[in-house]
Amino acid sequence: MKTELYNAKTQKENGTALAGRVIRSGGLVVFPTETVYGLGANGLDGEAVSKIFEAKGRPSDNPLILHVAKKSDVKPLWKHVPDKARILMDAFWPGPLTLVYLKSELVPGEVTAGLDTVAVRMPEHKTALALIRAAGVPIAAPSANLSGKPSPTSVEHVLEDMDGRVDVIIDGGRCSVGVESTVLSLVGEPTILRPGGITREMLEGVIGPVKVAGAVLRPLGEDEQAASPGMKYRHYAPECEVAVALGSPRAAAGIICREYQKAEIEGKSCKIFATEQTKSYYKGKKCVIIGNRDMPATLCAALFGALRDETEGVDLILAEGIPESGEGLAYMNRLLRAAGFTVLRQ
Ligand code: AMP
Ligand code: MG
Repeated sequence: MKTELYNAKTQKENGTALAGRVIRSGGLVVFPTETVYGLGANGLDGEAVSKIFEAKGRPSDNPLILHVAKKSDVKPLWKHVPDKARILMDAFWPGPLTLVYLKSELVPGEVTAGLDTVAVRMPEHKTALALIRAAGVPIAAPSANLSGKPSPTSVEHVLEDMDGRVDVIIDGGRCSVGVESTVLSLVGEPTILRPGGITREMLEGVIGPVKVAGAVLRPLGEDEQAASPGMKYRHYAPECEVAVALGSPRAAAGIICREYQKAEIEGKSCKIFATEQTKSYYKGKKCVIIGNRDMPATLCAALFGALRDETEGVDLILAEGIPESGEGLAYMNRLLRAAGFTVLRQ
């Protein structure tokens, strides 16, 4: 398949109109959002949605998120709109918050992987909104990476995985949040199935207590069922080993320096994912500064790019763990999954 590439700034009008037509006629379009790039198809057309799973190599039991251009567009997709959803939509839409609730008859089983719930989000990115409007239908979209790889946050990363597999790619530059949306289930007690840019603290400030699903920071047990099917798969994996050092910044840096030396003796090539606060511990070692520990959103924004761009010729990434508060929960969720839950302690 020949993939057309459009620039969201310089080819705005033509690109969006054409991409909207491609979605409506059952094709695939990669588009930028504020979280990561999405791989979209007509969310009301089961056959079109199946092409997403094929292009990504995604297991068919992992459901997708429907993207809408205005709050009221959620109405026909759910059985009804619960009060908590209204409050959350007013507080956080458009933005990186996905809400899961009971689906209506309109939503094809391909989107929800046969579940009786559907996930819906209104993105904030102007190009994403313009595309959904041009398509005139909700757009079903997972992240635009091959299944298992880190989600793409730049068009270069999209092209690595999707060139030749989709009809259109819209280049919108870098994604600002850098990790996928927070997924919150409103079936029963509000529960975070996947942490993201809208934090637990922000949600609790608006609707009161919010639970966090067990599988967010640990692997699923053998006989445990995933609240969110996506959590049972290996995710965000670069082409090298990753290990996460836990503890205070000083303790984590100590572990990392020890493991770095050990690995070098074994002939392995290592790289450290450091922070502004700890870079001085790693003088003379190969290291990249991911962001600022006191501003975990900066770490989220840079992680997936680093997992793709900083791993060439590297056998082992040694990364610092951070506290799981605020955006730190989303960062640790992605980092631990990229590491296959390999952690190092003192
Ligand atoms: P991605 O599309 O790559 O952002 O993945 C979508 C995420 O949303 C996956 O982790 C899915 O498991 C999750 N998800 C989508 N729909 C549902 C649903 N109905 N119930 C629970 N989780 C869902
Ligand atoms: Mg994904």
